[in-house]
Amino acid sequence: MNRNLETLIPSGIRRFTNLANATPGCKKLTIGEPDFDTPAPIREAAAKALADGLTHYAPNRGTDSLRKTIARYETMRGMECAPENILVTVGATGALNTALTGILNPGDEVIIPTPAFSLYESITLSQGAKPVFLDLKQTGFQLREAALAACITDRTRAIILNSPNNPTGAVLNQDSLDAVIRATEGTDIYLICDNVYAPLCDQPIPDLTLERSLRERVILCQSFSKPWSMTGWRIGYLAAPAWMIEKFVLLQAAQIAAVPTFVQKAAETALTVPVDDMARDYRKRREYVTGRLKRMGLSFPEPEGAFYVFPDISGSGMDSEAFCTRLITEGGVACVPGSCFGCEGHIRISYCYSDQELKEGLDRLEAFLAKASP
Ligand code: PMP
Repeated sequence: MNRNLETLIPSGIRRFTNLANATPGCKKLTIGEPDFDTPAPIREAAAKALADGLTHYAPNRGTDSLRKTIARYETMRGMECAPENILVTVGATGALNTALTGILNPGDEVIIPTPAFSLYESITLSQGAKPVFLDLKQTGFQLREAALAACITDRTRAIILNSPNNPTGAVLNQDSLDAVIRATEGTDIYLICDNVYAPLCDQPIPDLTLERSLRERVILCQSFSKPWSMTGWRIGYLAAPAWMIEKFVLLQAAQIAAVPTFVQKAAETALTVPVDDMARDYRKRREYVTGRLKRMGLSFPEPEGAFYVFPDISGSGMDSEAFCTRLITEGGVACVPGSCFGCEGHIRISYCYSDQELKEGLDRLEAFLAKASP
């Protein structure tokens, strides 16, 4: 076996979801995917593509028409792109895998600001590279130049930036991005921007992919999963300098050959479907959940996007695993421990649920807190 695999551990999210499933009547607030159906025009486009016989291999880099549509979409958003800058991938998971596998050699270092989605660590370890965690809890969940500079060594190959963030929902402010620019000026450190939740923001947010001066170092990892509720379709993309894409295509050819042709056709339609209604619903839910948590006396980094809130439960006297285990078994509601994201003292609450389910889940959390407080 590949020895690097020995460093990988199963996702804690799955473990807690399994415990919740095995507990009769338990309400789950754990899920990290939209509860909406994929919009009808996208499903219809896939059905038509199948009826039209689009069932053969696509080019390794993605179909010409989808790459053109993505390049136009990104250029309109402000990241000037040509089809040569785009690689169609198996979700953002595929984009992150190809990007990291494509740039890392054993012993290289990747700076991962935490709390963070666990995939970054797993992919880094699978390459025999070293994750270097930068704890953002100390700095209000924002980046500071000195702290970032202290993590940089001559082995640093990349920094991963995820805004809005999973699990906090926090958005990196302009000062954070300026800190990244200053700390990496004159280096060849890649800036991997995992922007999967950005299209669901109802107003523009600071974004390094829009910085022209960084174009040679920025790799955008994007997905159709979240904005168009397409998690099961497995499609996303990577935008990067053309010379890098030429290398990544060879890697993708070896890994997956290509993304299914009819799925790519449906994704073209997705880029024409507005997501404002879903963004509005997520905002309403976010306001409801944050209002309830504040009334319970919990504090949390202010969420401005994604579909998570990350309250501080350290006042309970329990660590996040113990808290979530008891919350399931005694409180009848499941959340994900902050430890799964490299951040103790917090839990992740997802609000990808109906108003009624959210109300019931939060009622149970409130009752549990009242009983469990020291
Ligand atoms: N990045 C982040 C921050 C995520 O939360 C997820 C999914 N939970 C992904 C990437 C991967 O998404 P997908 O592969 O479905 O595009």
